[in-house]
Amino acid sequence: MSTASPTSNGKRVLLAKPRGYCAGVDRAVVTVEKALEKYGPPIYVRKEIVHNKYVVDTLRKRGVIFVDETSEVPEGSLVVFSAHGVSPAVHAEAAERNLRTIDATCPLVTKVHREVVRFARDDYDILLIGHEGHEEVEGTAGEAPDRVQLVDTPEDVHKVTVRDPSKVVWVSQTTLSVDETMERVNQLKERFPELADPPSEDICYATSNRQTAVKAMAPECDLVLVVGSQNSSNSKRLVEVALQAGARDAHLIDYAHEVDEKWLEGVETIGVTSGASVPDVLVMELLEKLAERGWDDVQEVTTANEKITFALPRELRDGGRARSSVR
Ligand code: SF4
Repeated sequence: MSTASPTSNGKRVLLAKPRGYCAGVDRAVVTVEKALEKYGPPIYVRKEIVHNKYVVDTLRKRGVIFVDETSEVPEGSLVVFSAHGVSPAVHAEAAERNLRTIDATCPLVTKVHREVVRFARDDYDILLIGHEGHEEVEGTAGEAPDRVQLVDTPEDVHKVTVRDPSKVVWVSQTTLSVDETMERVNQLKERFPELADPPSEDICYATSNRQTAVKAMAPECDLVLVVGSQNSSNSKRLVEVALQAGARDAHLIDYAHEVDEKWLEGVETIGVTSGASVPDVLVMELLEKLAERGWDDVQEVTTANEKITFALPRELRDGGRARSSVR
């Protein structure tokens, strides 16, 4: 990473790269757009397709109906499952209701589901590090509800009970803070020295890359602005990581107009980044607003170049059709 020295008025913006859309979010949004083109509105999406207000509102205007549960979808209709994944019980309910389905679960979330299925089959107790109530956690735990215990807070570490301490494994939500997760793992290992690691990292490349970029610029920042929604786990983690890495102040905003003038008082360097579910147009609007106030020197801080893309769900590839919800 390299950053130039401040301009004469001292005001500059450090812009994190990578930031914004990851491959899983891009795939999920394009899935809904293609489904709209192919089948026409209305189509139903269970939960927010990705955790971003702007994306959800834009799709809603184009004829998408967002529901909390499949029970709200009229029989025989088309429903898309969100990037965060769903449990087998949700697939079963959709099949019972004769729904046509397209599954936009991110392949990296599916990977964690598969790990849970495999470890449950091998009779492990599975400790899922993640945030209580998050949709991804509900979907992942639902793969083996009798075998999975959620570990969210440090207190949860003490509450866990296992049948055989030599057959315990941890897995995690994909969008956590890398450092906090390792803290939790170390606490668990104090209790269960034979705790097995998952076969590969569950926190996804996009989450960890965005945290690395924000860590690189945070020590130089008086203020870090993270564009993202309040219910976006990875966006919230970016605020926390910025503060832990030395930013004097940090805030999460959906839109540029939410910047509070008080935050800008006495500030020279502003760091800007965005969560994995945020289209870059929202970051550009923020940069325009900052430029109007004198922060027009924008320097990109690059810590990785991402090239990952995922193929669309097979139902939307040539010749594919939405299917009855049978796995
Ligand atoms: S943040 Fe990671 S796991 Fe979530 S959708 Fe993006 S790539 Fe997939």
